Amino acid sequence: MSTKAYAASGPKEKLEPFSIERRKPGPKDVKIDILYCGVCHSDIHEARDEWGGTVYPVVPGHEIVGKVSAVGSEVKKFKEGDIVGVGCLVDSCRTCENCKQGLEQYCLPGGTFTYNSMDKKTGGVTYGGYSKDIVVDEDFVLRVTHKDSIEKVAPLLCAGITTYSPLRHWKAGKGSKVGVVGLGGLGHMAVKLASSFGADVTMFSTSPSKEKDAEKLGAHHFILTKDPESVKKAAGSFDFILDTVSAPHDYNMYLNMLKMGGQMVCVGLPPVPAEINMSGLIHARRGLNGSLIGGLPETQEMLDYCAEHNILPEVEMIRMDQINEAYDRVVKGDVKYRFVIDMRTL
Ligand code: NAP
Ligand code: ZN
Ligand code: ZN
Repeated sequence: MSTKAYAASGPKEKLEPFSIERRKPGPKDVKIDILYCGVCHSDIHEARDEWGGTVYPVVPGHEIVGKVSAVGSEVKKFKEGDIVGVGCLVDSCRTCENCKQGLEQYCLPGGTFTYNSMDKKTGGVTYGGYSKDIVVDEDFVLRVTHKDSIEKVAPLLCAGITTYSPLRHWKAGKGSKVGVVGLGGLGHMAVKLASSFGADVTMFSTSPSKEKDAEKLGAHHFILTKDPESVKKAAGSFDFILDTVSAPHDYNMYLNMLKMGGQMVCVGLPPVPAEINMSGLIHARRGLNGSLIGGLPETQEMLDYCAEHNILPEVEMIRMDQINEAYDRVVKGDVKYRFVIDMRTL
């Protein structure tokens, strides 16, 4: 089935209209008409081949919300007309020890990501949500339980789960002092979620203009990281720091802000390796960790939690043909705080 999409044909090329083939829905497949797709910084890293390994043409997009337009004969969870979500994963082996625990993002033979991944079902490459429709195995489709503002739900499928999962895993909540580094798509969700869990939240930002917003999002404190005095005062005071920064920066400064035994978790993935001073870890038994999105069960848990607590991202809606301008604006930090494409404009 041929489907309209937007693709980049090389690392320096703009995204342009493109036609892709989707597989015919099999017995366990759900066909989804895409309504909204969020714009994640990972889309930009991939489209511009900043991590290496991008296969062109690439159709990015892994924050997908749409309406079910057809279901295969064995599909049990969904029916035509349901509003559903698809995040960063569309398949995995389902049998390895990580898949069995619902941690499909860490599938040992390697999961199938929504775009730029080897598609075991077709032998081709997966294409993401900057497209009219998508066909996904029902096990990798999420129920959208928000009743309204569904255009705002899309960013939960990556920015939401990527911050929810480490905050839950490291038990951020009442009594814990949490720092969030970088107020972008992931960072603003981290602030909303951590404060809803009852943590005392500090926003670390390089942008003085974001202080008021940080407070509105739920941050209790704001530290401008360009100000050495404020940074010095914060030394040794955090239980947990979540780093969402997309570009190279100094990790050691944040490690030194952790208490003894404090944990820093990186979700931001700059394209170049970082220099870590081990003394920052050793002298206070601190930990430096990473975390990748979240598995399917936890993604559903996060969606349900956000629906129940009325938590939604702050979004700026764009048309499909504004995507190249939107990429440049994300890189400049000029978005409050996630672009969402209205896919009906494709
Ligand atoms: P984003 O909206 O662009 O936000 C990144 C924020 O980082 C910016 O708003 C800015 O915040 C800060 N920043 C940017 N450049 C900086 C620099 N040179 N020095 C210090 N701070 C800087 O990006 P996003 O969509 O949230 O994604 C963030 C990162 O997470 C990306 O690398 C993305 O690929 C990665 N990611 C990882 C996962 C995962 O599973 N681990 C999932 C999704 C995304 P301030 O203005 O407040 O400083
Ligand atoms: Zn993402
Ligand atoms: Zn597996």
